[in-house]
Amino acid sequence: MRAIFSTALLLFFSLGSFANPVQDVSRLASEEISKLFKVTSEADILSALEYARAHHQQVVIAGTRHSQGGHILYPNAVMLDMTEYNRVLDVDPTNKTIQVQTGATWAQVQQAINPHRLAVAVMQSSNIFSVGGTLSANAHGRHTQLGPIIETVIDIKIALASGEIVSASPERNPRLFYAIIGGYGALGVILEAKLQLVDNLMLEKTVTAVDYQSYIAHLKDNADTLALHYGRCSIARNQQFLEDCFSIDYVPTDAPASNAALQEEQHITRNAILFDLSRSSPYGKALRWQLQQSLMDRTDRTVTLSRNNAMRPPIHFLAYDSETDTDILQEYFVPLDQFPAFMHAMKAILLEHQVNLLSVTLRYLKQNNDNLLPYAQHDSIAIVLYINMGLDQAAIEHAQKWTRALVDSAQAHNGSYYLAYQRFPSLAQFQRSYPGWTEFAQVKQQYDPTGLFNNLFYAHYIGQPWAAESTRDSNTARRAP
Ligand SMILES: Cc1cc2nc3c(=O)[nH]c(=O)nc-3n(C[C@H](O)[C@H](O)[C@H](O)COP(=O)(O)OP(=O)(O)OC[C@H]3O[C@@H](n4cnc5c(N)ncnc54)[C@H](O)[C@@H]3O)c2cc1C
Repeated sequence: MRAIFSTALLLFFSLGSFANPVQDVSRLASEEISKLFKVTSEADILSALEYARAHHQQVVIAGTRHSQGGHILYPNAVMLDMTEYNRVLDVDPTNKTIQVQTGATWAQVQQAINPHRLAVAVMQSSNIFSVGGTLSANAHGRHTQLGPIIETVIDIKIALASGEIVSASPERNPRLFYAIIGGYGALGVILEAKLQLVDNLMLEKTVTAVDYQSYIAHLKDNADTLALHYGRCSIARNQQFLEDCFSIDYVPTDAPASNAALQEEQHITRNAILFDLSRSSPYGKALRWQLQQSLMDRTDRTVTLSRNNAMRPPIHFLAYDSETDTDILQEYFVPLDQFPAFMHAMKAILLEHQVNLLSVTLRYLKQNNDNLLPYAQHDSIAIVLYINMGLDQAAIEHAQKWTRALVDSAQAHNGSYYLAYQRFPSLAQFQRSYPGWTEFAQVKQQYDPTGLFNNLFYAHYIGQPWAAESTRDSNTARRAP
């Protein structure tokens, strides 16, 4: 009786008006959901799961919805919106750890730990994502001394499909731990995470011009001293397209750990206008590359800033809403020695298919094969593409074609691709890059035998892969009306 009453109360408070169908940030896929639960407590989450079980519905879990391949969508599912389940439960300055509810964003984590002179060890390049979404993608960023986030997870607390709450870590329930990290919401709700932090050191940022042939040599020379690093290559459509690059390097100073004020993003409108120019014209692309060199990535300047401030770069200027087109991300991983050859091949594919490339950035990623669906199978360069494409079916089919060519090329160079983005790669390509999917399916059977948790990504590649190639081959771009 109490359970029914709490479910009813939860429904009353959580079913406000919401946009239905629901979309992820790419707007390439959308689905009608049956109920939205904006959860704020563990009891809310358990009640929502109970509701779904009682109504024979499936559950999707949403953080800040920046995955781009239907990872938060399934038809008629119950959606858990985790973003208000976001309390920082504990910061331990002695052991340099944080315990946090997983709806919290990295921006919230940074606010909590900066006064303690602590910083995040591993997260994405920017701070807008939820901790839960980050763990579920096993994300990585600009750090250089560690692999993906799994290396910083001490333990996690999980709500299983049965309603049971369990802990998982490399020692406790390891099978579940290594599947749910990087498991894209298919195995349970990660409620809380205890994460290892590092000192918020002051860093010196320098920029070096390199071409893509010499990028690896430059990186190898400096890798041991770098705290953070990324690369950026030219998008100007001339001879130097993808060939002229910058290496942006952050080296710790001797200064003690800092609690310097967190900086907020500046010039959002100006940067959004400039970025928009580059969407629609080659002149805009050339102008942006020019300004990037003369304003942002200046080789004649050294800037000193805290790790926390280096890990909150501008991002809001990228917000974009158009009826006809959208911006997407893709990411490919290749071993260091394969990088120049892959860049060469990628350049040819992007030019042949006239892909509207808006930025190419590079990360250095240490090998980590811990989880069941690992992407960092070697010490790798991650090549991150920011691309504008149409929302119409023809554009989607075209994008699927050149994506598969890029995935083929990455695999031919002993590399892989990131699962957080569109469902453009084929089933065969997925299975080649992620052979651990069979064991993942077994763990799913063990912890969620009735398939309570589901999403379009999981169903497409693992849950019902026999149907993927025929009926749901593309990104199934059913758009919101
Ligand atoms: C502009 C942009 C920049 C990006 N930069 C990077 C980058 O630098 N490095 C990188 O590695 N990735 C990057 N990504 C990808 C990003 O890390 C993933 O898409 C990540 O999942 C986003 O987090 P989110 O909170 O938006 O997750 P969502 O999109 O909301 O969810 C992602 C997945 O996690 C699951 N999930 C969410 N919360 C929970 C939970 N509490 N328990 C269980 N499952 C949960 C969802 O069901 C879903 O399957 C970027 C994406 C964008 C759009």
